[in-house]
Amino acid sequence: MLFIGIYSSNEVSRHMTQIQNWSGSVRFTPKNLHTPETEAALIALVKACSQQNRRIRVIGSGHSFTRLIETDDVLISLNKLQGIINVDHDTHQVTVWGGTKIKALGKHLAAVDLAQINLGDIDVQSIAGAISTGTHGSGAALGSVATQVVGLRLITASGAVIDCSETENRDIFKAAQVSMGTLGIITQVTLQCMPAYTLDYHWYKQPLQDVLHNLDKLKQHRHFEFYWIPHTETTLVKTMNIIDQPAQHKSLFRRFNENVIENLAFWGFSAAAWQFPWQSKRIARMMSTLISNGHDVTASHETFATVRVVKF
Ligand SMILES: Cc1cc2nc3c(=O)[nH]c(=O)nc-3n(C[C@H](O)[C@H](O)[C@H](O)COP(=O)(O)OP(=O)(O)OC[C@H]3O[C@@H](n4cnc5c(N)ncnc54)[C@H](O)[C@@H]3O)c2cc1C
Repeated sequence: MLFIGIYSSNEVSRHMTQIQNWSGSVRFTPKNLHTPETEAALIALVKACSQQNRRIRVIGSGHSFTRLIETDDVLISLNKLQGIINVDHDTHQVTVWGGTKIKALGKHLAAVDLAQINLGDIDVQSIAGAISTGTHGSGAALGSVATQVVGLRLITASGAVIDCSETENRDIFKAAQVSMGTLGIITQVTLQCMPAYTLDYHWYKQPLQDVLHNLDKLKQHRHFEFYWIPHTETTLVKTMNIIDQPAQHKSLFRRFNENVIENLAFWGFSAAAWQFPWQSKRIARMMSTLISNGHDVTASHETFATVRVVKF
């Protein structure tokens, strides 16, 4: 991810830095890139921009696919506003800085015996970015990451500070939950978490017809998803359920499967199909033979997070 190396430098502001999102589909050069080190500095910056009629966009980890972060004016990153602010052990509510990356958050929470209720399938997003776009995981009975939010602090375009929740500025809170950076900058987030849990994770190959026939049963897993390989009858099924067992680290087999099969081989097959589209069916059939069956028992934040190298 090109821009991370560029904008995580120690300078507060850089000029004429080219930014690109994860997939490379969005590239732009903001006039100024700021990474304020404190909330007070951020507020002062927003006020100064407001007085000068400057336009602001805010960036998390730049993993969104559309032109949400693009600007030719001021770009603000919360990369230096990361970490836990407060943990309430009675309610399991945790307040964090908006720029906190989900991977780091998972580790911080595990250290205090807590975990996020649900996550998407990567963990490199900022928490505010994930909330702002309605990022979701699987689980028919579970909400998106934004539904875990019980309170927010917004810095509006004029530099005003608005704290909001179900009981305080409720309309703003509901609008801010998935606001794509348009309502203000989220500097602090209070999340409803739960006691740390271990997930029993299974992945296996199953014919498409069987998956469709058993959908109602499969949906009873806490998490269920499947990937169909076009031109074949093959699917890769993934299920996850809470298990009362100590968590282990990701097994070597799972790491191999994720890195080599789901990324390297998938990338190779995709590139081949792109180059020789008339061979797509044969390539898809070859790819379906690589799907394996496996099982792992890991902490929730490690289980959800997969490696995604192939651009889509
Ligand atoms: C490989 C990959 C896998 C993915 N997997 C999933 C998945 O499983 N489920 C899913 O739902 N999505 C998934 N996504 C999408 C991803 O979760 C979202 O695009 C998410 O917004 C990325 O977070 P970010 O921190 O990179 O946000 P950015 O892309 O940097 O920003 C996204 C939006 O949030 C706004 N924003 C960022 N920070 C703030 C802030 N502090 N205050 C206010 N607004 C802010 C930005 O202005 C922008 O509008 C995936 C994306 C990729 C590239």
